[in-house]
Amino acid sequence: MKAATQHKNHHEQQRNNMQPAKHDGIFKSAQEAMVFACNFSDQQYALSPMAKILQRGPYGSGRGLSGLDGAAQSGMVLAEMEKLDNAHILMLVARCAPKRERCSCTHACCSGWKMNPAYRDAISQLADVVLKEVSAEITNRRFRVAVISKFFGEKITIKEAAADADLSLRTAERHAAAINRYLKDGEKAALTAFYARLDEVGMLMEVV
Ligand SMILES: [Zn+2]
Repeated sequence: MKAATQHKNHHEQQRNNMQPAKHDGIFKSAQEAMVFACNFSDQQYALSPMAKILQRGPYGSGRGLSGLDGAAQSGMVLAEMEKLDNAHILMLVARCAPKRERCSCTHACCSGWKMNPAYRDAISQLADVVLKEVSAEITNRRFRVAVISKFFGEKITIKEAAADADLSLRTAERHAAAINRYLKDGEKAALTAFYARLDEVGMLMEVV
């Protein structure tokens, strides 16, 4: 019974695949595509489409990128990602880019790890976005960075961030709640928009 269903679905897929001008599905989900596209090493990052996207800044010119030739799969994913709202791009990168990467600088103070530049840039630019989009009242940049980093999975407490920024816990918690609300809604919208883009160009596998 199950085998028969799979067989039927296989035929349906073959029919769908005959529609012209679409990529073969590559990824199971928008998240999977993002993780793939974000997985740059330090050296690759400087030259990558991701770096070009982030170099525009959160309120950049909006001009198109050069060099997105779309030949590589990560290039194709990033080309679709580039069409998203800039704050959405930053949220997707902050969520999926590896936070740390190995460091072999051999300095005595080195932990053997350093921050992944794609992640660092995304968090930094989101700190600018939050000031503009959430509240101009949240003037302490280190506090914004701490709350944003916490949202994306770093082990930071609001209490520590408040003390560091010389804010009362009550104020810090109010600001953090506003930032979290913005990021939560934004990330959800970002994934939805990115999924729609990938789906439109046929890069998502048909999940049977
Ligand atoms: Zn090092």
